[in-house]
Amino acid sequence: MSHQRIKAFVLQAKAFGQKDRLLHLLTEKQGLIVAMAYGAASGKSQLQAVTMPFVLGEYEIFAYRERTTIDRGELIEPFLPISQDIDKLTSAAHLSEVTLDALYQGVSENNVYKLWGYSLYKLCSGADPMLTAQIAALRLLSDLGYAPWLNDCVLCHEDIDEGAYFSFRDSGLICPRHREENSICLSYAAISALLYIVQAEYAMLFNFTVSERVRSELLTFIERYLEEKMEKSYSRLKLLESLDNILEKKLCPDREADAESKEKDAAADSETMITDEAQE
Ligand SMILES: [Zn+2]
Repeated sequence: MSHQRIKAFVLQAKAFGQKDRLLHLLTEKQGLIVAMAYGAASGKSQLQAVTMPFVLGEYEIFAYRERTTIDRGELIEPFLPISQDIDKLTSAAHLSEVTLDALYQGVSENNVYKLWGYSLYKLCSGADPMLTAQIAALRLLSDLGYAPWLNDCVLCHEDIDEGAYFSFRDSGLICPRHREENSICLSYAAISALLYIVQAEYAMLFNFTVSERVRSELLTFIERYLEEKMEKSYSRLKLLESLDNILEKKLCPDREADAESKEKDAAADSETMITDEAQE
């Protein structure tokens, strides 16, 4: 039997019965904790706001045998913009799904808590939540020991100084000699961005801009990489993308022509630009 005070992000809050919530908490020091918040779904409960998904809070928990319950909680940061925007919310839910899958595989890693902090701040303030969530997801897997090999050919270590193919089977870049059927082509700008994502300090992780073309390369690559490593398909962002497409076509018929001219501009500046100011 023990009482503890912990700081944690709510990664998931599931309704349990009429009034209760089952929480998956990402704690600063103990990795993932599953805890029950009795009565939290009731409007009168002091626990209601502090047990919402993606908030950061300080909690008093009580652990007895296999069961952990939440007695009290205080909000540290509600990350309000996330709950008010469907793109941000869906992207956060995607990142949470990847995180829970990765941590369920028995790995506990203190850095994940820190990475979540930076990612939620960027989801709140940034204009491209989908890319933010995928950058964070790739970095998460990399830090847990599943980084893609991006330095040279993973098979013969020949230098790669332009665009190259990536082999999902061998989890790394491959030279033209080792090209295989299931590989995908990555531009040099995309490879530079991926190298940045697996190496940058967390405070600088999201501080780069890419052209529309490189953005789409990154999204395609990371989606496939997650599928291969986690052996499952993540559907939340796909739903968001198809919803965006439907809305864009209906609401802005001129947008396609616009996108084409943007693509031409982008071809001119396809290098990855690192911005230099650190995030708060
Ligand atoms: Zn090779």
